[in-house]
Amino acid sequence: MKVLVLNCGSSSIKYQLRDMEKDEVIAKGTVAKIGEPGSYIEHETGGKKTRREAVIPNHSEGLSLVMKAMLDEEHGVIKDLREIAAVGHRVVHGGAAFTEPALITPEVQEKIRECIPLAPLHNPANLAGITEAKKQLPEVPHVAVFDTAFHQTMPEKAYMYAVPREFYIQYGVRKYGFHGTSCRYVSKKAEEMLGSSSDRLKMIICHLGNGVTLNAVQGGKSVDTSMGLTPLEGLIMGTRCGDIDPGVIFYLHRRANLSVEELDKILNKKSGLLGVSGVSNDMREVIKGAEAGNSRCKLALEMYAYRVKKYIGAYAAAMGGLDVLVFTAGIGENSPLMRGMICENLEFLGVKLDGEANVKTVKAEGVISSPDSKVKVLVVPTDEEKMIALDTMEIAEKVKKI
Ligand code: ADP
Repeated sequence: MKVLVLNCGSSSIKYQLRDMEKDEVIAKGTVAKIGEPGSYIEHETGGKKTRREAVIPNHSEGLSLVMKAMLDEEHGVIKDLREIAAVGHRVVHGGAAFTEPALITPEVQEKIRECIPLAPLHNPANLAGITEAKKQLPEVPHVAVFDTAFHQTMPEKAYMYAVPREFYIQYGVRKYGFHGTSCRYVSKKAEEMLGSSSDRLKMIICHLGNGVTLNAVQGGKSVDTSMGLTPLEGLIMGTRCGDIDPGVIFYLHRRANLSVEELDKILNKKSGLLGVSGVSNDMREVIKGAEAGNSRCKLALEMYAYRVKKYIGAYAAAMGGLDVLVFTAGIGENSPLMRGMICENLEFLGVKLDGEANVKTVKAEGVISSPDSKVKVLVVPTDEEKMIALDTMEIAEKVKKI
């Protein structure tokens, strides 16, 4: 079975065509700068990349180009669009309505629309992708896989904010969490690696990419997560500040005369590693800066590791212990330095790294704790597209049987 995975942003479409039996990515690519000058499609298959500039005014045109690229005589991978058996769509916000992936029906589309106020930038783009893909591939099942769904198992005490209850009832103000597809994939993979899926297994996943999520997973279920109503809460990220005193917002509004829009931009786009280091939002650049003696870069690394460490402590306390600590995403998979800084002095919790294994495990799965470490520390490369494709296949097969 061939499954197409689509991740539609406001000005981009990322896609992968996967062969499920062979567990292979047949083709992948990006349509970028939709509706902007300089739009293009980049298509990759068999290790060969092609790039074509084109006028791409909207998602409809973008998706047509994706289909053309896949059918192309020279770089294509299929002869007929009917070879695509199902389409999986990444959807950012499913609110409290979706606890698992869903076959896309008009009712499901309506519920995704109702979540737009919670994700005003992402959900409209996801919906545009769904509408267009359904037009261009009308015969096959389309499945929505939500970034928020995995965290719907959190208990009320973890997801409620201590604000007047009417804001929850009227506007849905609560913690939802994101990166759920990545965390679900990684937690399953970690269980496989350990050969254990006990319903008592206590795991903390550190998804350290441009965006950062720490996720407490107990018995395979998310019980707490660091992002909130929006992705701004939690850890220090590339350009997001993570947890701050909400009073800072009122203070800067009054003192520096900054508007809500300006503060939104500052805390989401100009803070985090970029704001602290003054150099970059890219961890590699910040590490380089620190190694060259830049004190702001050094501080950025220290703050980053310190905050992750604090969350690990908090989640271990919340679960009453810790069995497995998992690192994933760009920084988690590739930076022995950051993993080492985070795990330093966590022996009291039973975390003991194997220095050599830590340095060696880059872009690969592996155990990086020492044999006598009470807590197993793992590196697990994430693969959200694969998870979306597996969910899509599962639902598509159920639909076929009906
Ligand atoms: P996204 O959230 O956009 O998917 P990624 O998971 O690709 O992001 O993570 C991007 C981050 O990973 C960037 O901060 C980048 O600097 C960092 N990263 C990638 N490779 C390395 C490396 N070798 N060492 C340190 N950080 C790295």
